[in-house]
Amino acid sequence: MSLLHHRLPLAVAARIASGRIPTVSTALIAHRLLSTTPRRLHAEPVQEGPSHVSDVSGRIKSPGLKTATYTAQDEPDKYVDPYKNGPGALDKAAHLFFFTEILRGMWIVLENFFRPPYTIMYPYEKGPLSPRFRGEHALRRYPSGEERCIACKLCEAICPAQAITIESETRLDGSRRTTKYDIDMTKCIYCGFCQEACPVDAIVETQNQEFSTETREELLYNKEKLLANGDRAEAEIAANLHSDHVYR
Ligand code: SF4
Ligand code: SF4
Repeated sequence: MSLLHHRLPLAVAARIASGRIPTVSTALIAHRLLSTTPRRLHAEPVQEGPSHVSDVSGRIKSPGLKTATYTAQDEPDKYVDPYKNGPGALDKAAHLFFFTEILRGMWIVLENFFRPPYTIMYPYEKGPLSPRFRGEHALRRYPSGEERCIACKLCEAICPAQAITIESETRLDGSRRTTKYDIDMTKCIYCGFCQEACPVDAIVETQNQEFSTETREELLYNKEKLLANGDRAEAEIAANLHSDHVYR
């Protein structure tokens, strides 16, 4: 395949140059073919004579083209010494003789031996979390105990995972409140859009990330579960919202 790839353009170019393929742009095609042959080979002037000859093995050869080995001396301005800016042979020999790379590696091991460990003993030790960390969801109440949620359904509308389901009713005092507020935590992608959309900071994401369960049903949160989460983490939620309010 490679042989065919190399010889075919040269043979066709020879036929064009010898006038066996008469076209208007003969010279242009010949130049194009020769320029696309591998850089290892280059064509020499075409000699007059038969368009092709056969060698001893019977393969057809182009008689007008000879090949020569392409070397860096052919294009001295394009030659780049790959070892120009690297270490010299003496440097390399010195590094090999004195085991400098091994000694440097051992020094790094020794340095880290006396450093405090980067690992922590989770779950007994925990790393810091950002106030913006988005974990388990919660519904908040006002200090009076009244639910904050006004059933505007903005969170349900903006949720890209369609994980929130809300049903609402109008109370006797004219306010709207939810009768059903479900979040399918198996669908949730913790994007935080519901929290951002809520006009009264009712739905929030707490910093609790340890709520794995054994069954899928346990991750289908209802309103009671969400309100209980909010009651439990209210102090932490309020502190995080306060620290973040300058960016909102
Ligand atoms: S965090 Fe995103 S995906 Fe999860 S309930 Fe809120 S809006 Fe939906
Ligand atoms: S949680 Fe907020 S955004 Fe969602 S329905 Fe209630 S008030 Fe509206």
